[in-house]
Amino acid sequence: MAKIIAVANQKGGVGKTTTAINVAAGLAKAGKSALVIDIDPQCNATSGLGVEPGQRHPLVSGRPLAEYLVETSQPGLQVLPGSQSLADADALSAPNRQRAALLRQQLHGELSHFDYILLDCPPSLGQLTRAALGASAEILIPIQCEYFAMEGLSQIIDLARQTKSRENTRLEIGGIVLTMFDPELELANEVASEVRGYFEETVFETMIPRDVSVSEAPSHGKSVLDYNPRARGARAYAELVMEVIDRE
Ligand code: ADP
Ligand code: MG
Repeated sequence: MAKIIAVANQKGGVGKTTTAINVAAGLAKAGKSALVIDIDPQCNATSGLGVEPGQRHPLVSGRPLAEYLVETSQPGLQVLPGSQSLADADALSAPNRQRAALLRQQLHGELSHFDYILLDCPPSLGQLTRAALGASAEILIPIQCEYFAMEGLSQIIDLARQTKSRENTRLEIGGIVLTMFDPELELANEVASEVRGYFEETVFETMIPRDVSVSEAPSHGKSVLDYNPRARGARAYAELVMEVIDRE
């Protein structure tokens, strides 16, 4: 059965998409079959993996999901592309009590042959993120080491706790990952130790450094692990993947 991980944080630009792509690529490199599902209408995960967004969003198309799966340049890693269709974005994010149950059914029914499924969530705590949490086994929360990092964090963790108590008892906080870390910045170090002090072992040991290779890789349609395997960012994501696997 697939392990479903929602990569979520209501803030934009914290590294959700980057983390979804690179963790999925690293899992594939470790011999696991992995799928990235793009549920952000911006479709960054889709294009970052070198795939064109579709006309329809597979999850609301009414067609079998298998028809939409696309191979990426990384063997073992597939993507369920997002769509820029506004109508489909509306349909996906419309308040719908059934959405999480439906999503869970779709993922477990049609995509259960993957080892890991990563849902790249939009930057909001809206219906889509809620549905993703309702259908996932874990939430993975990337945060940027900046001043307001902690504030948003408690909101998303509250939402995860609510989701767990109301509709998805299996949901666990898979972990908080510190991204775009710059060791030279005093503030970054302060934030990192504050987050660790508060959330303790929920925070992954591995911190993802700010690294230009990480930001360049998506324009080549590749993970940083392929684009520049020796880059610091690539090594950090490879280590994070080992932690993700070990936390099973
Ligand atoms: P989100 O999905 O949370 O909005 P992204 O993953 O798209 O965030 O990242 C936001 C921006 O920061 C992107 O331009 C991305 O390339 C860049 N970025 C993400 N992680 C790193 C990193 N470790 N080093 C440098 N740039 C990064
Ligand atoms: Mg994103």
